[in-house]
Amino acid sequence: MNSIKSIKYPVKTPFWASWLWPAAYWRIKTTQPELYLTFDDGPHPKFTPWVLDQLKQADAKATFFCIGKNIQRYPEVFRRIIHEGHAVGNHTWNHTHAFHTSTNQYLREVEQTDLLTGSGLFRPPYGKMTPGLYRILRKTHRIVMWDVLSGDFDLRVNGEICAQRVIHYARPGSIIVFHDSQKAWPRLQTALPRVISHFQKQGYRFLSLNAGN
Ligand SMILES: [Zn+2]
Repeated sequence: MNSIKSIKYPVKTPFWASWLWPAAYWRIKTTQPELYLTFDDGPHPKFTPWVLDQLKQADAKATFFCIGKNIQRYPEVFRRIIHEGHAVGNHTWNHTHAFHTSTNQYLREVEQTDLLTGSGLFRPPYGKMTPGLYRILRKTHRIVMWDVLSGDFDLRVNGEICAQRVIHYARPGSIIVFHDSQKAWPRLQTALPRVISHFQKQGYRFLSLNAGN
């Protein structure tokens, strides 16, 4: 496959998606040349430090949606994320699928992860939440979805396509999804440096999400 589009998932979130969960953040409203890189599923002892090195070289900030059990396993990697001034968010304890878990169990996993992240940011794994979970979590967290999906998890595309997707669809305020994971690595290692250098040449800055923006 060599298209920047995918029939399996929307690379660019359609405008009507935000009607489903209006309290969630899909994009930051701004006209400034600013982008919000996000990295899901870490921390990982090899790929997260590589991402942090890329960001440091580019003087870029990002947001890492971490899995609780990975924070417990790699606390020093997690501390480095914080130490280097990036934001962290909750991505459940075990990359939990909202449709395959009871509401109580899901909320327990979120709480357990909150104890480690200490963050008000939350991103549901697979982008899935039940209506009940959404109603509860919107009161306790800032739910962060996305505007552009690089598709770095997709074994059918290469890193060049992932980079082209982001370059084609990102605009001021876009929230962009990558993964600091084993699965994404073959594509991430090509796509991330291309995306950073492309947008920096255009005068963009990369910022982390926080409770205010
Ligand atoms: Zn994930």
